Amino acid sequence: MGLVSPYKRVIIFALDGVGRFFNEVPTPTIDEFFSSGASSLTAKAVIPTDSAQNWGSVLHGVLPEKHGLKNGDVEAGVPFNENSKYPSIYKLLSNNSKDIKLASYAAWEPINTGIIELSVKADLYAPLTHENFFLRWWLRFKHNCLKDSVYDNIVVSRLVEYIHNPENKDVNLLFIHLTDVDEHGHGYGFGSQPYLDQIKIMDSQIATILKAIDEVGWNDDSLVIMTTDHGGIGKKHGGSSDQEVNVFLAIRGVGIKPNSKIESDVTNMDCAALALYALGKDIPEWFDAKLPTEFLRSS
Ligand SMILES: [Zn+2]
Repeated sequence: MGLVSPYKRVIIFALDGVGRFFNEVPTPTIDEFFSSGASSLTAKAVIPTDSAQNWGSVLHGVLPEKHGLKNGDVEAGVPFNENSKYPSIYKLLSNNSKDIKLASYAAWEPINTGIIELSVKADLYAPLTHENFFLRWWLRFKHNCLKDSVYDNIVVSRLVEYIHNPENKDVNLLFIHLTDVDEHGHGYGFGSQPYLDQIKIMDSQIATILKAIDEVGWNDDSLVIMTTDHGGIGKKHGGSSDQEVNVFLAIRGVGIKPNSKIESDVTNMDCAALALYALGKDIPEWFDAKLPTEFLRSS
């Protein structure tokens, strides 16, 4: 189930707050994705099971105590320290090659403003930093007053435009973050019916994105990764319970055997190692993220 490194492109689906709850509802797109590649249903989040900590580890390849990212800071707009010993894979890649094309479409804007360094040149999009005043007001009103987060819809439609634009065919790293499942977990409870219904909506949104990727031919030269930052318990997450820590990791691409299982111990953080390796880059020795042992040698 070898990786055919290098791939031209790595696409990461970063599905916020899903944990392993997609097992509890029909998710035909996620199921199909899993069966078309290699997957782990024993993957773990890093502790604490918060978003900035986990997306920080996914994007910086080190544990939270090293990258130091916290929700409160990134939500307050604190940018990532440019002098950190633990730069993001975005910064590593842009330092490594001048003509690399990077993109992040994030429903939660702190990914673009606090987790990825501001010095990185990338195609960035987030609803609350890129849409007009009225749409931003509407999104906040829906979220705060109606407890109905609809950030992902607009991310998906902007992203599909991006994918279809021929100017973007050479993108090498594309991070796609969806947030409404997590928001429904906070609003109604992780595992509640509205939360599970939102997972079904997310599944159809993923189908829309995967269809666009297919239409532009990116399946032939991309490694596509799918993971989540954490689950939740009650209306919260951050702790160490199974419902919060249990996550998944799935990858698909040329060379990866369909229906194969990743049985080694993996974390969502390992995406950072997978992404660099898949793009033909060295994995820094200071990384905590590891290539899953199944992919250490092509077989
Ligand atoms: Zn989260």
